[in-house]
Amino acid sequence: MSEDQQVTVIGAGPTGLLTALGLARQGVTVTVVERAPGLQDTPRAIVYHWSTLDGLARLDLLDDAGRAGFFKQDYAYRVRATGEIISYGLAALDGKVERPHNLHLGQGALAAVVLDRLEAFDNVRVLWGHEVTAIEQDATGVSVSVRGADSEDVLRSEWLVGADGAGSAVRRLSGLEFEGMTWPERFVATNIRFPDDREGWAQSTFYLDDVYGAIIAKIDESGDHGLWRYTYMEDADLPADSIDDRMPRFLSAVFGHEVADRIEVVATSPYRMHQRAASAFRVGRVLLAGDAAHATNPTGGLGLTMGLFDAYSLIEGLGAVVTGRASDDVLDEFARQRRSAFVDKASPRASSNKKLLFHSSDPVQRDRDLDMFRRMSRDREFAADVLYFTKTLESPSLLSV
Ligand SMILES: Cc1cc2nc3c(=O)[nH]c(=O)nc-3n(C[C@H](O)[C@H](O)[C@H](O)COP(=O)(O)OP(=O)(O)OC[C@H]3O[C@@H](n4cnc5c(N)ncnc54)[C@H](O)[C@@H]3O)c2cc1C
Repeated sequence: MSEDQQVTVIGAGPTGLLTALGLARQGVTVTVVERAPGLQDTPRAIVYHWSTLDGLARLDLLDDAGRAGFFKQDYAYRVRATGEIISYGLAALDGKVERPHNLHLGQGALAAVVLDRLEAFDNVRVLWGHEVTAIEQDATGVSVSVRGADSEDVLRSEWLVGADGAGSAVRRLSGLEFEGMTWPERFVATNIRFPDDREGWAQSTFYLDDVYGAIIAKIDESGDHGLWRYTYMEDADLPADSIDDRMPRFLSAVFGHEVADRIEVVATSPYRMHQRAASAFRVGRVLLAGDAAHATNPTGGLGLTMGLFDAYSLIEGLGAVVTGRASDDVLDEFARQRRSAFVDKASPRASSNKKLLFHSSDPVQRDRDLDMFRRMSRDREFAADVLYFTKTLESPSLLSV
């Protein structure tokens, strides 16, 4: 049995690695257990809302993350049926908040920035290629059985953080339900490179259509025109192994045949999408964060945004408990606040974002829904109020309650 750690974190995704870094900076000993042999880099999160940047700055990561990606302000809604383009930007927040821009960065690259920083701490280790198989807790700690390719071990720690993604074994082994629903559609996330004549796409574009609806966002500045994410939706009953055959029809509909024929598709990942939350985010000495705690469809980029806010809150609360500065009551507050922020705010917003983008065939309803964005494009004060929403997803300090 290994008793070298005060906290065991399951999952070396961005949520788990950030939590480990935040705890390590407070002198807490941490072991991260990751099933994969290294960092995962499938096409997933790329946009982190302006409101998450203060937390990255507190962890002294913002400059490195900004260098690995880029900051941007512009958004556009394009309506396929009418050709209307509505543009607005985070410039409406200029002078009102310290960092009025979003960060664009593939989540694998964000995780790499965090991992790089973790290497400077000798109180953290990452066990790659190990998965959790059993959890037992008692009054003084948690015992986690982990299995590697040719070894088995039991890690004993005071606390366990499940940051092992939407299929979380920690959640399941803790007897928690994943309450909510799974959407009937499949999302297909692709990384693409445009040919020379790409023009006119904002760095984040929401393309409204009930067949060809899409989210198009720039990932980074690599190559001649940067790497871009194009995510669209199709019926989940269609065979996943023929996605590549169907994709040209979607690309042509959105970008036109000329451009579509010359787009290079660099990576493709199909996803089932959910609106689900664990029935509790704390069971005794086990805490859940990130997708292990909640899963959402990605329209509007709220998934990892919520994971980052979970990590910031956990870093403060769990750090204070482990270092003897707070009672574990703050962890009940962590669990309550984070679940409520997801169930009451983030998840309903992500569902309405999806409805607008991908299910907007009723022209009267669509027109009504778009009025908010039209007003945002001409009224900065109104835009600032709307854009402030993502800040309300962050929990206030646990130590001041
Ligand atoms: C197409 C798409 C686009 C998205 N875009 C955005 C966006 O722009 N902005 C945004 O905020 N969010 C976005 N999201 C959501 C975002 O990708 C997730 O919220 C994010 O991955 C959650 O990070 P995590 O660290 O909590 O979990 P994960 O990234 O899933 O990491 C979990 C880790 O745990 C490991 N693991 C799993 N089981 C075990 C086990 N039993 N033992 C040990 N290790 C285990 C896994 O290998 C993995 O490395 C998007 C999602 C999709 C699908």
